[in-house]
Amino acid sequence: MEKNDLWQAALAKLEPSISRPNFLTWFQETGIAGIEGGLATVFVPNGFVKEWLQNKYHKFILHALREITPEIKDVSYLIARPERSGHAPLAKDPVKKRHSPADGTPLSDDLSIRELSVNPETNLNPRYSFSNFIVGSFNELAYAAAQSIIKNPGTSYNPLFIYGGVGLGKTHLIQAIGNEVLRQNAQKKVRYVSSEKYMGEVVDALRNQEMNNLKEKYRSVDLLIMDDIQFMARTEKMQEEFFHTFNALYEKNKQIIISSDRPPQAISTLEERLRSRFEGGMIADVGTPDVETRFLIIKTKADEKGVVVPEDALRLVAERIKTNIRELEGVLNKIVIHSKLSNSPVTKESVEKILVTHALAPKKFVSGKKIIKVVCDFYEIKERDLVNSSRKKDFVRPRQIAMYLMRDELKYSYPSIGDRFGGRDHTTAIHSCEKIAEELKRNFELEEEIRLIKERIFSE
Ligand code: ADP
Ligand code: MG
Repeated sequence: MEKNDLWQAALAKLEPSISRPNFLTWFQETGIAGIEGGLATVFVPNGFVKEWLQNKYHKFILHALREITPEIKDVSYLIARPERSGHAPLAKDPVKKRHSPADGTPLSDDLSIRELSVNPETNLNPRYSFSNFIVGSFNELAYAAAQSIIKNPGTSYNPLFIYGGVGLGKTHLIQAIGNEVLRQNAQKKVRYVSSEKYMGEVVDALRNQEMNNLKEKYRSVDLLIMDDIQFMARTEKMQEEFFHTFNALYEKNKQIIISSDRPPQAISTLEERLRSRFEGGMIADVGTPDVETRFLIIKTKADEKGVVVPEDALRLVAERIKTNIRELEGVLNKIVIHSKLSNSPVTKESVEKILVTHALAPKKFVSGKKIIKVVCDFYEIKERDLVNSSRKKDFVRPRQIAMYLMRDELKYSYPSIGDRFGGRDHTTAIHSCEKIAEELKRNFELEEEIRLIKERIFSE
């Protein structure tokens, strides 16, 4: 097979498992430079893409290539321009045709309706405000820090680092800060960005030789809000780039707000310089709301929607839905739709039914493989190291956690757990599970880590 065709075929295999904007960001202007002695060399436009493909997609790329050409044993990456042999490597790809910036179509067909109200200048969504943000003991520290920043940006709490699990209001809170700062002073330059979008912008800017513009864009703001920074931690070059922007702003006393799913010290691949910068500011967590707060949240949201739900029905929802606020909203939406469709008032009984169906709704497919994958992603280690025999502490602990989760969530037998981890004895599996279960009783940090891992297992 001709190398260009081979690459197109491999991309066709990769594409369905990657979101479209991501696919375009990381695979544009890539191709195969050559294949020699089982080694395929993939050319990439710059070092950012190189690092990202190596760290994040290497396994998938190799797998896709080998499915087509089994002789390929490994892949290396090379920074190079595509050969000028007529068309650019992705040109024949139908996906590229649909989204190609060449025909002037931006990626905007990926925007959902909700995102359409996003201000393109600031990236802020006006729906996130403090007027619809409920404060309780679970988020009061983060809230207080936010208020203090609005009063005195760039001084006392810089940077502000907010962390917590999925659906607990991090994005809402940090965007609300941006919206409020602008409400008080429309002259301020505020920019919100998720780390994934930021990485895409950096890669695009490099491709179009617009890096100076991009630097200027980020270094001229009064308030920079970077959401979900944990995704950036996989790539050193990106962190390096961000570090310079961070410093440029910091030195000018411009406010920086960062969010993550865990505290800086728990992001193992976070560059030391960034970590110590983050730790030099204010770090606040967002926990899970207690039942009273959940009740208040769902009541407020029902009122906002103008739907009448009896108090006992709302209580029922608050008692049952414990994990996160996004799920609370989801159930409320179901209640609203149900009442509209059936054209009848909401009662405790009708809500009870909805809750039962909600609880029975098929959970996302969870397998042992998935647990291994998520645990490895979480601790940023290779699957090989998790299942194999290494006794290094970095691997032993995640391995015990993965074993524990297989037992606890999937009820796997101990011998089968041992098998999955390089044929270990079942007594090792028992020991691991018991150790983690025992430690969970007193180690709060471990409890938090396992909660985050479970969230990922069930949400992805
Ligand atoms: P995260 O970024 O932590 O995953 P989000 O900010 O996206 O969570 O919040 C999930 C949903 O819950 C959003 O629709 C948000 O508006 C809502 N929400 C979160 N926290 C609160 C809160 N304290 N009060 C009201 N609504 C909230
Ligand atoms: Mg978020």
